[in-house]
Amino acid sequence: MALVQRTARPSDNLAGYFAGGEASRLALSDGSRVGVIGGGPAGTFFTHFLLRLAAAVDLDVAVDIYEPRNFAYQGPAGCNHCGGIVSESLVQLLATEGINLPPSIVRRGIESYVLHMDIGNVRIETPLHEKRIAAVFRGNGPRVSEPIGASGSFDGYLLELAASSGAKVVRKLVNEISWDGGRPQVTSSDGATATYDLLAVAAGVNSQALQLFGEVAPQYHSPKTLKTFICEFKLSPEALDRHIGPSMHVFLLDIPRLEFAALIPKGEFLTLCLLGHDVDNALIDTFLSAPEVKACFPDGAVPSPVCHCFPRVNVVAAARPYGDRIVWIGDSGVARLYKDGIGSAYRVAKAAAKTVVHHGVADEDFRRHFWPACKRIDNDNSIAKVIFAVSGLIQKLRFLRRGVLRMTANEQRRQARRRHMSTVLWDLFTGSAPYREVLSRSFHPEFPAMLCWNLIAGNAVRARRNGSEEPSHE
Ligand SMILES: Cc1cc2nc3c(=O)[nH]c(=O)nc-3n(C[C@H](O)[C@H](O)[C@H](O)COP(=O)(O)OP(=O)(O)OC[C@H]3O[C@@H](n4cnc5c(N)ncnc54)[C@H](O)[C@@H]3O)c2cc1C
Repeated sequence: MALVQRTARPSDNLAGYFAGGEASRLALSDGSRVGVIGGGPAGTFFTHFLLRLAAAVDLDVAVDIYEPRNFAYQGPAGCNHCGGIVSESLVQLLATEGINLPPSIVRRGIESYVLHMDIGNVRIETPLHEKRIAAVFRGNGPRVSEPIGASGSFDGYLLELAASSGAKVVRKLVNEISWDGGRPQVTSSDGATATYDLLAVAAGVNSQALQLFGEVAPQYHSPKTLKTFICEFKLSPEALDRHIGPSMHVFLLDIPRLEFAALIPKGEFLTLCLLGHDVDNALIDTFLSAPEVKACFPDGAVPSPVCHCFPRVNVVAAARPYGDRIVWIGDSGVARLYKDGIGSAYRVAKAAAKTVVHHGVADEDFRRHFWPACKRIDNDNSIAKVIFAVSGLIQKLRFLRRGVLRMTANEQRRQARRRHMSTVLWDLFTGSAPYREVLSRSFHPEFPAMLCWNLIAGNAVRARRNGSEEPSHE
C-alpha cells in the first residue's frame, strides 16, 4: 500500500531546520500520534527521549505504549526474563540523563566478580573503585517474592518514567498490524484499532509480536535468537553473605554446549543465567552438578529453584529494522551480543528518538541517522564472536586456563598498576565496554608478553606439583 507523502513544512520538522538538516519527506508535526509496541527498556527509553526531545523543540506529539505485562506481578507473568545486570556504564549514562535508579530497585550493588574454573577461582575487583554495577529484577521478583509494587521493579520504574514524561500506557497486547492510508494501524487484543504517524516496535524476542510483520513490512527480517535458561534460588541472608557476597560469580567450565553461566545475588535470591547451544535439562543438570558450582552453595548442595524460565536472546541482528513510519528497536532490531542488552536498547532507542524528532520518520531518515547506531553495535558483535571463540578455547584447554588464572590472580594480589587480564575479563563479563575496547586492550604489548610468561610459569608449577591439587587464588 502506498504511503501518504507530502512536502514537509518548517513547522513539521523544526529541529531538523535548526540543525541545518534537510527537510524530511515524512516528518512528525503538532498533533502527530506515535504508537510503541512494548514497554520494556527499548520502548520506555524511546518514549522518554522522544517526548523530551519533542518538548525541547516545541513539538506536541502523543505517544501510546502498548504493554500488557503487569510488572508488579511476581514470577514470569510480571518479568521480562533477564540476568538483571545494569552495567556500570549504563548506570553512569542514566545518571547523566537525570535517571537515577532508586535504591528500592537495586537489589544488590555488585562490587566484584569471582571467576570459577576447574583449576581454581579468582576474585576480580572493579578496576575503578567508584564504579558500581546494579543487580535488578525486571519485575517484582520470583514467584515466592514479597509483593513490592511495579515501581520496585526495573521495568515498572522505566514504564512509570515514560508515563510521567507524558505517554499513555495502553494495557493491551497488540495482535495485528496493517496500513491505513499509508500509516501503521495497530489492532489490540480487544479488537480496538488505532492509526499512528509512527510505529516503534520494541516487543523484544520473547513473544509472537515479530510474526505480525511478515506481509506488512517484507523488508524486515526478525533477529535470530538462542534459547537460554534462567532460574532463581532462595537462600538465607547468612548463606548469601558467606557463599556469594557482593560478587557476581561467573564460570568458565569445560562443559560441552555451555557458553557462559553466572550467579547473580539479588536481595534474598540468587539468579542463575545460563547461555549455551540448545540449552536443555541435560546441560542444566551437568552444570549444576559441577563441583565448582556446588561449592557456591551451603554444604555443597544446590537447592531447588523457586522460579525458572527459558527466554530467548537476540544473537543475529534483524535485517532492515526500519521503513517509512516504522522502526524496530531493542531486541526486536539490533542488540549487543550476550552482554548489556539493556544498554544497547538504551543507545538504539535514543538514536531512534533523535532521528524522529530531528530528522523525520521516512525510511531514508532512519537509514541515515538511526541505522549507524545499530551498525556500530552489529560491528562490535562481530568482534565479540572472535572474543567468545578465544574464551571457548580457554574453556577447553586447561593449560590456557592455568595461564589466565595465574596472570589474573597475580594482578589482583599485587594490586598491579596495569591489570591487563583483570580489565579484559572485567569488561568482558560486565559488558561495560564495547567489545572492540576489550580486544584493543589485549593488543597492548605487555599483554601477550605477560600471558606467555604466566602460561609457562603456571604450567611449569603444575608440572612440578606432579598432579597435586591446584589451590584457589581467591
Ligand atoms: C538469559 C538472559 C540474560 C540476560 N541478562 C542481561 C543482563 O544481565 N543485563 C542486560 O543488560 N541484558 C541482559 N539480557 C538481555 C536483555 O534482557 C534484553 O536485551 C532487553 O530486555 C531488551 O529490551 P527490549 O525492551 O528490547 O525487550 P524486552 O525487555 O523483551 O521487552 C519487550 C516488551 O514488549 C512487550 N510485548 C511483547 N509483545 C507484545 C505485544 N504483541 N503487544 C504489546 N507488548 C508486547 C513485552 O511484554 C515486554 O514488556 C539478558 C537476556 C537473556 C535471555
